[in-house]
Amino acid sequence: MPHADELDRAVDEARRRYAERRPETAALHERATRVMPGGNTRTVLYHRPFPLRVARAWDAVLEDVDGHRYVDLLGEYSAGLYGHSHPVVLEAMREAIAEGLSRGAHTEREVLLADAVCARWPSIERVRFTNSGTEANLMALSAARVFTGRDRVVVFRGGYHGGLLTFAHGASPVNAPYDVLVADFNDADAARDLLRAHADQVACVLVEPMLGSAGCLPADPGFLQALREITAGTGALLVFDEVMTSRIGAGGLQQHYGVRPDLTTLGKYVGGGSSFGAFGGRADVMSLFDPTRSDALPHAGTFNNNVISMAAGHAGLTRVYPPEVAEAHTRRGDELRHRLAEALDGAPFCVTGLGSLMALHATSGPVRRLEDLHDADPRRLELLFLDLLERGVYLAPRGYLALSLAVTDSQLDGFVDAVADAVRGRSSLFAHR
Ligand code: PMP
Repeated sequence: MPHADELDRAVDEARRRYAERRPETAALHERATRVMPGGNTRTVLYHRPFPLRVARAWDAVLEDVDGHRYVDLLGEYSAGLYGHSHPVVLEAMREAIAEGLSRGAHTEREVLLADAVCARWPSIERVRFTNSGTEANLMALSAARVFTGRDRVVVFRGGYHGGLLTFAHGASPVNAPYDVLVADFNDADAARDLLRAHADQVACVLVEPMLGSAGCLPADPGFLQALREITAGTGALLVFDEVMTSRIGAGGLQQHYGVRPDLTTLGKYVGGGSSFGAFGGRADVMSLFDPTRSDALPHAGTFNNNVISMAAGHAGLTRVYPPEVAEAHTRRGDELRHRLAEALDGAPFCVTGLGSLMALHATSGPVRRLEDLHDADPRRLELLFLDLLERGVYLAPRGYLALSLAVTDSQLDGFVDAVADAVRGRSSLFAHR
C-alpha cells in the first residue's frame, strides 16, 4: 500500500484543483449553506469539497454553472434513462401541460400508464401510483402488514428502499419505525432460519433483486428462489423493490431470475423523468385499496396521478423503451461492464452490476458480498471520481453509474478511455503492492 499520507495529499490536491476551477459553483454553494443544511437538499448528491451544480443539460451532457461540460454517466441514479431531452418524452410532457395542470380528478393518462405497467411486469395484476420509490415501498409494507395481520418485516443489510427505509449499516436512525429483522443478502440459509424462527410474525420480505445503493451486487442464482419458497411456506409476502432494476431486460430482474414476487415496487424512469413511484402485484392484496370496499385502506396523495409523470411515463415505457429496446440496452450495459473490467485490469478497482446498472469499487475484487468491500479505500474512489470530472465524465461519487439511452457509442469509448487514463495517471498510487 502507498503511504496513507500520499493518498491523503493526492485527494487534497484533487479537491483543491476542483475548487479552483469552479468559482461560480463555490459561490452558489456558499449561498446554499445559508439556507439549507450543508447547502444540500439531497444527501446522495453531496461530495467534497462542494458538489457540482448543473446549469443546463441535454442529451447525455451536463453543463455546470462554471461552463464545464461532462458526459453524464450517472443518469440521475437510473431515473434519467431517457437522457435530458428525449423528444418523445418532452412532447408528452408538453401535451399534458397544454391540457391543463392540477385537475384534482381522474384522467385517462393514469389508465394508460397502469395498462403499460401491468402489461410489462405480469406479476403486477393491479397497480397504484405514488410520488417516489420511497413512498411506494412504505405503501407496500403497509399493504403486506394489513394483508397478513403480522407486524414484522425482513430486509437485508445494505438494502436501500428510500430515505425512510435505509439499511446500509443496519437500520438508519431516520427510518420509519417498522419492526425490522435485518438479514444478510445472498445468505439463503440464514434467511430461512430467520423466517422460520419468526414465521407467525413476519408480514413480508422486502428485497432488491440486486443491491443497488450498496454497490450493484446481484443476487446469487438460487437466492431469490429460496426466498420465494420460504415465504410461500410461512405465508409472508415477497416484495421485490425493482425501483432501479425494472429497466433490466424486458421484464426486470423478476423475469431475469424467473421468480414471481407477490408485490413489486417501481419508480425512477417509469415516471419518464418526473417524480414517480408505484406499488402493485397480486390482485387480492391490492384489492385492499379498492375504495368500493367498506373496509378499504386509504391511499391518497395529491400528485399520485399528476399528468406530467403519467404522460411522460407512458410515452417512455411504450414508445422509447419497449421490451426489445430494454433487451438491447441491457446487452449494451453488459458490454460496457466487460470493457471497464478490461480497462481496470491490474488496478485495485473492479466493476459489478447487471445490464445498464453498475458500480466501480476501489478494490481488485471479486466483489459478490458486502464483506468483499471491506478493503475498498474510499480515497481511491474519490480520486477516480474527481479525476474523471477533470476528464469531462460525471458519475456518482460512490462509483455508481446508470447508462442512459442518450449516451452515444463515441461517448462510451471516451468514458472507457478516461477510466483507463485516470487509473494510469495514478499508477504509483494505485499499483498493487
Ligand atoms: N428503492 C431503490 C432500490 C432505490 O434505488 C431508490 C432510490 N435510489 C428508492 C427505492 C427510493 O426511490 P425515491 O428516491 O424515488 O424515493
